[in-house]
Amino acid sequence: MSNQNQENSSQLSKKERRFLRRQQKEKERLLHRRQGKFKKFLWITTIVLIVGGGISALDWFLATRPALPESEIISRQGIHWHADLSIKILGQYQDISANIGIGITHQPIHTHEADGVIHMEFSGLVKKDDVKLDKFFKIWGRKFNQNCIFDKCSGSEGQVKMFVNNQPNSEFENYIMQDRDKIEIIFE
Ligand SMILES: [Zn+2]
Ligand SMILES: [Zn+2]
Repeated sequence: MSNQNQENSSQLSKKERRFLRRQQKEKERLLHRRQGKFKKFLWITTIVLIVGGGISALDWFLATRPALPESEIISRQGIHWHADLSIKILGQYQDISANIGIGITHQPIHTHEADGVIHMEFSGLVKKDDVKLDKFFKIWGRKFNQNCIFDKCSGSEGQVKMFVNNQPNSEFENYIMQDRDKIEIIFE
């Protein structure tokens, strides 16, 4: 068998053998190229699917996201409001420090002086929720809600009361501040 093969191949001339070898190489090259093209096609398909999927997910998110009701918007061009805050506990006015919310990050709600003036300096879209009194106390890191001011909580010692522009207010930490408000928190 091998003898015959040898005989066969020896029967082919050098030229013919070279031709066959070249033909074989050419076939392999075509095959490789086709495989390469197929791989490329797979890649492109995958990328198109991923990107397309991302875009439709974004579309879906934008379409289903609840729209912000107009009534929740204070401004679309920012605000610079001020409210005046005082805190009186058992007859003692409490210090409201300067530079609350002014540090490494400049909070839109902050104080500059120790004068009880809360500055609300926002740019762009401002929602009612952004100017809740609670936001100021969170930034300050002090406690305030309908039951407690600082460490004083309604009980035998006294009650938390709030006035806005001299009117009793029962919204406490949920109160949405307005420009030029006079806010008084009293524990007595
Ligand atoms: Zn400021
Ligand atoms: Zn200001």
